[in-house]
Amino acid sequence: MPKNPSSLDSKVPAENNAKVMFQAKLNALQDKFKAGLPARLAEIQQVWKSVQAVAEAGDNLDVLHRLVHTLTGSAGTFGYQQLSRDSRALEILLKELISHADINYEENSRQIEEMIHGLVKVAEEGVESALTQQLIRNMGKAESKNHILIIEADKELNQLLTGQMQNFGYEVGSVDSLGDLTVALESFHPDLILADTSFPRGDFSAIQAVKEVLEQRTEMTDLPVIFMSARQDIEARLQAVRAKGQAYFPKPINVSALLNQIREMTNRVESEPYQVVVVDDDPALVSLITFILEEYGMSVASVTDPKLALDVISSHKPDLILMDVHMPWCSGIELAQVIRQHNNLSSIPIVFLSSEMDEELQFQAALKGGDDFLNKPIDVNKLPRFIQSRAQRARSLSSLMIRDGLTGLFNHTYIKDVVETEMNRFERNGNEFSVVMMDVDFFKKVNDTYGHTIGDQVLRSLSHFLVQHLRKTDKVGRYGGEEFMVVLPDTPLEDAVSVMKVILEKFGQVIHHATENDFHVTFSAGVISSRVTQNVTVMLESVDKGLYEAKHNGRNQVTAIETVF
Ligand code: GH3
Ligand code: MG
Ligand code: MG
Repeated sequence: MPKNPSSLDSKVPAENNAKVMFQAKLNALQDKFKAGLPARLAEIQQVWKSVQAVAEAGDNLDVLHRLVHTLTGSAGTFGYQQLSRDSRALEILLKELISHADINYEENSRQIEEMIHGLVKVAEEGVESALTQQLIRNMGKAESKNHILIIEADKELNQLLTGQMQNFGYEVGSVDSLGDLTVALESFHPDLILADTSFPRGDFSAIQAVKEVLEQRTEMTDLPVIFMSARQDIEARLQAVRAKGQAYFPKPINVSALLNQIREMTNRVESEPYQVVVVDDDPALVSLITFILEEYGMSVASVTDPKLALDVISSHKPDLILMDVHMPWCSGIELAQVIRQHNNLSSIPIVFLSSEMDEELQFQAALKGGDDFLNKPIDVNKLPRFIQSRAQRARSLSSLMIRDGLTGLFNHTYIKDVVETEMNRFERNGNEFSVVMMDVDFFKKVNDTYGHTIGDQVLRSLSHFLVQHLRKTDKVGRYGGEEFMVVLPDTPLEDAVSVMKVILEKFGQVIHHATENDFHVTFSAGVISSRVTQNVTVMLESVDKGLYEAKHNGRNQVTAIETVF
């Protein structure tokens, strides 16, 4: 049985409730689309009448084409596949009429008439497929990604890994027999699996078991898996790859490296939700996209009038823009060029919503690079992950400016700015904040004894540890080599000191691995708060003195600066 029953069932009831709400809202959106269909089709018929009525059909034909195009995209997205297909056929015919002036549309008018009539009939037949079975299964996964399932027959190693992961704030479930795997998966809902490749049943028996069990569960096909193995050879590694293992750790396990890998794969560093602006002239589609993305933890602003898009984008500064190509008044491509004229907006990636028919357009954009395409009708099952991955990439590119490469923490310049910002805030609202300056003890010895690579790993491990144990609103920066700064908003000096003492004690228990030896590392820290001084320069000098004092008094301790002179 899984060993950690207390943490096994905590996620389930809330998730079920959320699923019911989610499905209800999706149904409502689908109903709304359905209710609006007759009006859409009436409008199409109306415009078609004016096309026939006027000698010069040009403008009206364009409008007709756009309406039909929009219907193609939306109908398919909302589960009206046949309607979407028929609408596309009409769209193609209209496009030909528009681009070949020599084609007499009168000759085609009977066909168009019939096709429009056909659309009305198909629409009456209703929806073919319910929205988003898969979406519902995957829901909630964007939130707290900290459940790790360890599958390891060696009880000692199993226990050690469990303890170390828990130290870093993960919820851990573990099994030491493959027979328990199914129960553990269903009750624990892991966000990541860490599995040995081999069990007493035989080499690769665990790989096989993990593979099978995941293949049977579509909601878990994307679950990240890390394999650990006593074997180093290509065959073993290949087996792991074929079971969709995303990382492979030979034994003896380097726990710090493993923890870094886990942190990357569970994305625990990101905190702020991704900001997305959706620009599309079809309100029904915009509601659906907005709802789904928000449900997946993103923050969405939307515009249906392209004239207002620039204002919304400027005020939101999103991580990503999702933009329809075909809109009245101006096209998405033109609008993108206008956006690019603004220096501060020019690096925001744009995902265009277009149809497969816009091949040339997609090719041109691909040559230029940067922008991306999502085909209409939208596959709503893929939408959240598609958008999430691009927003994530965009954000990680922009964070290169303010992040330290080795640790992913804020860099020196940025974290000092944070202190300034907090001091300004303190002067406005009087909320005390604290600043910690810390430095690894005897770090030179770590480098000298185990090598620089292991030293780097210790720095990453400490960074990870700090982020895990501090609040989301706390800011952690790498101040210099093995020196770190933490800024804790709304935290009085005493609280900051006790938080740091707890972290110091727990971090001291973390086991670091070198080839031959395991070892422990401590740090020393100075702590000060805005109650003690309101001068940022004095504050930083004094907190540095606190750190020096902690070193001087024997290291592995936290010193509070209560007064400055
Ligand atoms: P103390 O307890 O007094 O702080 O002793 P210490 O050995 O930690 O301090 P010292 O300043 O003598 O040495 C710090 C070492 O940290 C020297 C430097 O080479 C090393 N260092 C600085 N940046 C990095 C880095 O990015 N990676 C690694 N591996 N080592 C680094
Ligand atoms: Mg449109
Ligand atoms: Mg040091």
